[in-house]
Amino acid sequence: MARSETGSAMPFIDLGAQRARIADRIDAAIARVLDSGRFVLGEEVAAFEAELAAFAGARHAVACANGTDALVLALRAHGVGPGDAVFVPAFTFVATAEAPVLVGATPVFVDVREESFNLDPDSLARAVEWAAREPGLDPRAIVAVDLFGQPADYDALGAIAETHGLALIADAAQSFGAARAGKRVGTLAPVTTTSFFPAKPLGCYGDGGAVLTDDGALADVVRSIALHGQGADRYEHARIGMNSRLDALQAAILREKLAILEDEIAARERVAARYAAGLPAGVAGPAVAPDARSAWAQYTLRLDGRDRVRAALGEAGIPTAVYYPMPIHRQAPYARMPVAPGGLAVSEALCGRVLSLPMHPYLSPADQDRVLDALRAAVAG
Ligand SMILES: *Cc1c(COP(=O)(O)O)cnc(C)c1O
Repeated sequence: MARSETGSAMPFIDLGAQRARIADRIDAAIARVLDSGRFVLGEEVAAFEAELAAFAGARHAVACANGTDALVLALRAHGVGPGDAVFVPAFTFVATAEAPVLVGATPVFVDVREESFNLDPDSLARAVEWAAREPGLDPRAIVAVDLFGQPADYDALGAIAETHGLALIADAAQSFGAARAGKRVGTLAPVTTTSFFPAKPLGCYGDGGAVLTDDGALADVVRSIALHGQGADRYEHARIGMNSRLDALQAAILREKLAILEDEIAARERVAARYAAGLPAGVAGPAVAPDARSAWAQYTLRLDGRDRVRAALGEAGIPTAVYYPMPIHRQAPYARMPVAPGGLAVSEALCGRVLSLPMHPYLSPADQDRVLDALRAAVAG
């Protein structure tokens, strides 16, 4: 944690402030689970799944062990495997590309749009047309990421998915609680996955994830795969599955955090608006589409001289982060995997220009002023 000259620490994400706000409720929820003696799945997880689905407006939510598993479960439920192509953005957290590899499929890296950081439909269309002509590659699924909290352009992506008969999976690890065109994340694509890693907009105190869908048959398959391929009863196994369950403790904690999520996103929106109003010239803030609402997982700038500005902010006691310093197709294990025709120039350029500022619902106006003052000085210097 960075400290300023005055000694006051400014966290990049302040989970302590949230904990202080709902400490009594969290402690009661934890005690309830300890008293119940039921630590995996059970009533607490079922209640959380129902509340999560209701919040999103989706018919079904299946909780699982983490957001990476949620992606694997969604891909496996669609039957994606060896020989299949899965289209993923090159500018994302690695799990988006890792999941297709884990099911034996081939990720095809697609470029993103500079202003939204999300999948570029034109690059996607080129990649799908290329893969369709490639012997041994069967285009099967798109995994769209709602990077930094803003939902991807699901109208455009859905049209491409429909034209080519592809599954469309939303990786909403960073966007739970966001919306687009009046619909909440969880209903924007036929299947949505999310993560409850502590730093995500809806985070627990460990690992967790979920798959949301309106498709009851698909939800049943996801649940079965997550529970060792469980069939009609516990010791009948209909398929090869895995062990991907949510703990009752995490579910109980998540129920309390879900109850304040709407309020927290509104607070993040106020923080984002205040940043936007104070950015110096030459620094681009995130552009949210007119019909979109971001969950503001991150507040990510684009600027020249990023490393110099970052160092100056660090000197001034302002914590920052670079999400992400390298596109996935440049990472050694992914370097020989296919990329969209036309290349991934935007993803590559973004990695050298992005800088994320402190962002959380409890960031005070005074701390935001410190960030903005330091940013102005760093950019000018
Ligand atoms: C965090 C994240 C994941 C993976 O979630 P885990 O719960 O850490 O497995 C997947 N995709 C994106 C875009 C993420 O940010």
